[in-house]
Amino acid sequence: MIMMINVEKNSPTPHWQQELRAAFSNIDDLLAYLHLDSADLNLHYLASKDFPLLATKSYVDRIKKSDWADPLLRQILPLADELKKHPEFLNDPVGDSQASIMPGLLHKYHGRVLLVTTGACAIHCRYCFRRAFPYAANSAHRSQITAITNYLRDNPEITEVILSGGDPLTLSDTKFKHLVDALSDIQQVDRIRIHSRIPVVLPSRITDGFLNTLVSSVKKIIMVIHANHPNELNDEVQKGLLKLKQIGVTLLNQTVLLKGVNDDPGTLTRLSHRLFDCHTLPYYLHLLDKVDGAQHFDLNDNTATAIYQQLQTKLPGYLVPKLVREESGKAYKTPIQIQF
Ligand code: SF4
Repeated sequence: MIMMINVEKNSPTPHWQQELRAAFSNIDDLLAYLHLDSADLNLHYLASKDFPLLATKSYVDRIKKSDWADPLLRQILPLADELKKHPEFLNDPVGDSQASIMPGLLHKYHGRVLLVTTGACAIHCRYCFRRAFPYAANSAHRSQITAITNYLRDNPEITEVILSGGDPLTLSDTKFKHLVDALSDIQQVDRIRIHSRIPVVLPSRITDGFLNTLVSSVKKIIMVIHANHPNELNDEVQKGLLKLKQIGVTLLNQTVLLKGVNDDPGTLTRLSHRLFDCHTLPYYLHLLDKVDGAQHFDLNDNTATAIYQQLQTKLPGYLVPKLVREESGKAYKTPIQIQF
């Protein structure tokens, strides 16, 4: 970690928070902005009833106008397909409830825990496996931090803390710093890993204040961004990621393999190259978590492995993400076997 950055005192509401408040949350507004005319708006509204539309303007501006098939649009637009039920698709497909130790703390894997820092996001991804997560009763509110840090001290084998959500970068600078400082005080913790889609969908969030919080932590910081398509990674995203790299953050990416979004080797190849341009290494290519409402994004294993085989022929090894599936109750992510 290197030098601190000067931050203006008493500044008004930060630009990123203004952008967050101005995010698209109304389907008519989004479709009008993108020059799209829906045959049945009611179905979009019905699909968004329990998990509303949300997308920043920065992200929406990367969607091609008048194109229903745009891969970025498919990730955010509520569709009638979400209303179909399937017995294999559940509200808690990865077993979060079984792993819950106390509100806001999940302990699934050896040596690391996950904090559900908030239920807020800057975008609502229609495939999200936590789209039905009971955030109100299960987030790490400030009042729980002491109980959480006590749990960590009682379990000295835990050396890595994952900040997740929701999106931890929606926390204000003050709240985020409070959390990082509390974790930085625990000697056994070596690494703080932040999982966030915000560097991609709201790059203005990478402020000097935020960078200072990371710089001032004595822990190693890993940021896992979530990008699914190369069109998500514009120049502004690249600049934000460069700032993170320059202060010593390790940058990784995880992608969800999604039908109609990135289910071809060419797109995934371009994504890996673009990630590397953005100082970020591809880490995981996840099969879809079978969450209720996301069935239309699912690909069967044969299709997924055929895509992955092709991908391996197009990239150097360091740009090939691991193909995995998360299975409820398992001690690690399951690597998908390739059939030859
Ligand atoms: S940003 Fe992450 S937590 Fe939020 S909706 Fe998307 S996938 Fe889910």
